[in-house]
Amino acid sequence: MSTIRQQIIDLLENNDHDAREISQLLRISEKEVYSHMTHIEKTVSAKGKKLLITPSACLACGYTFKQRNRPEPPGKCPRCKSERIRKPRFSIG
Ligand SMILES: [Zn+2]
Repeated sequence: MSTIRQQIIDLLENNDHDAREISQLLRISEKEVYSHMTHIEKTVSAKGKKLLITPSACLACGYTFKQRNRPEPPGKCPRCKSERIRKPRFSIG
């Protein structure tokens, strides 16, 4: 039985996923997915790989949250205040 973190790594090595997809596949909360990401980043970089994050973006105006280093999606767009935010996607490469 592998750990949740290892299962997330396995998923992301095969495909890119957002936190909702991971949460549904592994039956954990999205919040738990995000809580594992910092540690997963360290684990994969120790193996010479990289956790790739496609940044969140505003679906209303297209604003991209490039400056954010934290994996959690922002609550709303700083430009147009919309709360329709595309979640960040994760993969390992
Ligand atoms: Zn916006």
